[in-house]
Amino acid sequence: MPKGEIKIDRERCKGCQLCLAFCPKNRITVSTELNEKGYYPAEFSQGEGKEACTGCTTCAIVCPDLAIEVYRD
Ligand code: SF4
Ligand code: SF4
Repeated sequence: MPKGEIKIDRERCKGCQLCLAFCPKNRITVSTELNEKGYYPAEFSQGEGKEACTGCTTCAIVCPDLAIEVYRD
């Protein structure tokens, strides 16, 4: 299984939570701190083994604000 990680631009994020809904590994949560626009942005947390991000890019594809970049090992 490929391993990946993502970077979320918290200032671009509108907190729509689409990426949370679509991530098959449930690697994305909502920050408890507001960004400068007044939204609670999405946050990435890596998992271990089968729970890790695969770099599938689904989150980046569904994000309407192009706030997510995906990296693969
Ligand atoms: S690249 Fe895929 S597995 Fe990784 S955070 Fe995005 S949707 Fe989830
Ligand atoms: S889909 Fe994009 S704008 Fe929506 S919560 Fe995720 S990173 Fe933020």
